[in-house]
Amino acid sequence: MEKLIVNDKSFEIYINESEILERVKGLAHEIALKEAQHKPVFLAVLNGSFMFAADLLKQINFNCEIQFIKASSYSGTTTTGNLNVQFGLNQDLAGRHVILLEDIVDTGTTIVKLKSELEKLNPASIKICTLLFKPERLVEAIKPDYTGFIIENKFVVGYGLDYNGAGRNLRHLYSEAN
Ligand code: 5GP
Ligand code: MG
Repeated sequence: MEKLIVNDKSFEIYINESEILERVKGLAHEIALKEAQHKPVFLAVLNGSFMFAADLLKQINFNCEIQFIKASSYSGTTTTGNLNVQFGLNQDLAGRHVILLEDIVDTGTTIVKLKSELEKLNPASIKICTLLFKPERLVEAIKPDYTGFIIENKFVVGYGLDYNGAGRNLRHLYSEAN
């Protein structure tokens, strides 16, 4: 298979754009069935979810609102316990039904921290919608409410996800090649 170099690593296509878009459409349908009556607030977690959020929200035909928050670990490439959340919310979430849009749930640390920060704002509910979920790596007692793809324990880039800052622009999802 064709190889792609991002920084110093070699990658190959893992899930192609058309498969992603088809699954995203299905996910939008699942969400519509359960959430449409709530006028939910979608909170896209930047940076990784920007492409997923855009494609998903284009498939949402019910009344909703969209906000962006930024969550990043303080150091390095591995997940640390220190999560830095920049809300930049211009709206009151009290009593609202919130759906977090994430690129990937790996150990679950980020989403658990994010959820507990958001709970302080007294929303009616908080659901988690993630494009990718690596159950093998999960250490937290949490399960996404909506999952695009359950994947193996592989490092992936593309479709919004980066490897040391690069690769977010790629239209397909790639995994590290052996
Ligand atoms: P968690 O806190 O669930 O361990 O990690 C979530 C974050 O780790 C994601 O939002 C993402 O930034 C990063 N991450 C985890 N696995 C991958 C991966 O396979 N590829 C990329 N690019 N980032 C990952
Ligand atoms: Mg992320």
